[in-house]
Amino acid sequence: MPELPEVEVTKIELVPHIVGNTIKKIIIRDHRLRWPINYHALKKLENKKVISLSRRGKYIFINSEAGTAMIHLGMSGSLSVLDRNTIPEKHDHFDIQLENQKIVRFNDPRRFGCFEWAGKNPENHKLISHLGLEPLEKEFTGDYLYQVSRNRTTAVKALIMNASIVVGVGNIYANESLFMSGIHPKRMAKNIAKNRYISLSKSIKKILKKSIKDGGTTLRDFSFTYQEEKIGYFKQKLFTYDRENKKCKQCDGTIKRIVQLGRSTFYCINCQH
Ligand SMILES: [Zn+2]
Repeated sequence: MPELPEVEVTKIELVPHIVGNTIKKIIIRDHRLRWPINYHALKKLENKKVISLSRRGKYIFINSEAGTAMIHLGMSGSLSVLDRNTIPEKHDHFDIQLENQKIVRFNDPRRFGCFEWAGKNPENHKLISHLGLEPLEKEFTGDYLYQVSRNRTTAVKALIMNASIVVGVGNIYANESLFMSGIHPKRMAKNIAKNRYISLSKSIKKILKKSIKDGGTTLRDFSFTYQEEKIGYFKQKLFTYDRENKKCKQCDGTIKRIVQLGRSTFYCINCQH
């Protein structure tokens, strides 16, 4: 599943192809994504110039003269920049046709992605308005995590994976950042001291930035696909995730696996408390 770093890399790679270009046509082949694609709303993009691309959580915002449209990659979505005459394949659900003879094509076998019109104030859209802070923005700090956790009896891992508090901390990143900070994933959020939250917020930023950097340098072209070998490469760098019963890379301890909220949690029995 594309996580925040993959979405950020996709956005970065799309910028030179889209920004400053005019959208000529929106072509929808299958409107049945997570929410039905509403061509009537999205055609407001037609004959409008793209001013910028931005990202909020795992949504890519296409900011045009007419307003903003947003794309979510869901579980298996990807965007590619192709020549206009490239024949569509199975699961190529929509194209954004540009005036420079290129198209931005969306492919999504599992159809959990979306393409939504968000108008002039995308922050007010119902899919966006409840979202918490961006982890890479300066507002996301240890102080913030400390403040929002004071009355929470939830486990710290659930706290940092709660999108209404901070967006984009997926399971891998939650596991790894807790390891980096030496915090046990089951520790109750309200019982963690401020200095440990400062460490945790820095770890979250660090691992997300590193992952964005890796994604940016390993991609050979401007189409993003979630390749197995890339996941394999990324996995070798992980300290806890998917390493049940393996030796900790930092001590003689063993990595243990438990389940929290239906998701696998991996942690070192010595390093995290
Ligand atoms: Zn350890």
